[in-house]
Amino acid sequence: MELNEGKAIRLRDLRKSFGQTQAVAGVDLDIADGEFFSMLGPSGSGKTTVLRMIAGFEPPTSGTIELAGKDVTRLAPFERDVHTVFQDYALFPHMTLEQNVAYGLKVRKVPKAERLARARKALADVRLEDFGTRRPAQLSGGQRQRVALARALVGRPSVLLLDEPLGALDLKLREQMQVELKALQREVGITFVFVTHDQEEALTMSDRIAVFNQGRIEQVGTPAGIYERPASAFVAGFVGTSNLLVAEAAEQIVGRAGTYSIRPEKIRVLREPVVAHAPEHTTAVGTVAEVVYLGDATRFLVNLDAGGQLTALQQNLDTSSEDVAAYRGARVGLQWHQRHNFRVPEAL
Ligand code: ATP
Repeated sequence: MELNEGKAIRLRDLRKSFGQTQAVAGVDLDIADGEFFSMLGPSGSGKTTVLRMIAGFEPPTSGTIELAGKDVTRLAPFERDVHTVFQDYALFPHMTLEQNVAYGLKVRKVPKAERLARARKALADVRLEDFGTRRPAQLSGGQRQRVALARALVGRPSVLLLDEPLGALDLKLREQMQVELKALQREVGITFVFVTHDQEEALTMSDRIAVFNQGRIEQVGTPAGIYERPASAFVAGFVGTSNLLVAEAAEQIVGRAGTYSIRPEKIRVLREPVVAHAPEHTTAVGTVAEVVYLGDATRFLVNLDAGGQLTALQQNLDTSSEDVAAYRGARVGLQWHQRHNFRVPEAL
């Protein structure tokens, strides 16, 4: 018998078809207790379907789902120790926040005094302790999001499933909520499974990330592992911005055949098109096709003499916007440490 201790979720060869569409095409995954785990991927890659199968809203076509070592594949949603937070919070407009948060406990016949105490504690966890008697209409979007979280936490589930919970918020608020959500998760110690198509969000918040593509997982790893050692060209392109050097350009520049991923922030742009040989460095020469001043940084798109293009991102330490304009159409040298030539494994 295998030991499942410490494992919150275990998926084995999970599949789901809707008619001819294979939404999930064989997913194996282990998520540890207390992890902040993100499922990241483009629209239609199957993340939400996996989440809905874990929640019990969608029966799998085949495969198994275990929660805390117990096979729950055929159990109803309410028989599983999980709670789902959706993007459209679904709060009851006529109830106060306390009533909204306590509602699930009422359904489960928890005594009134305990209900109220737990609802207040959950509202305090999301920093809304002074808002208990308000109604949802009197709240901002971010506050409503927090009420939805409080409602999820009050039932003390072992696992919280979150489907793009920050999707409806504007960028500033979204960034603030990312930090808060991560802090909250650490505090309560509940396993979070977070679905997003936003790679920055996944990189910021997660202990580990699974990158989905066409119903399959292409890579599971820590944010740094996925960013620095992408397992496929797809992952390199989807997570962060990546330059892929292939075929002749790779042979000429890196000196070896294969596909290489180089992150734009690793590449230094030099004003002179002649690059002196520096030990352990890779160099190239090209013409600036496009230069974009971004405030804190400048992005260069360079047509390489060896063929292909590279994007380079430079911090604007001493650079002004006038300096940047002078680069347009200029011949430049490019240089980066050879350890940043990451060889992408061949397609799966
Ligand atoms: P998004 O970020 O847009 O939600 P996703 O990665 O979560 O995308 P899913 O919602 O899991 O992707 O969908 C995966 C595939 O399954 C898509 O092709 C989708 O159209 C299809 N699909 C999902 N739900 C159903 C359904 N109820 N009936 C038919 N097809 C479905």
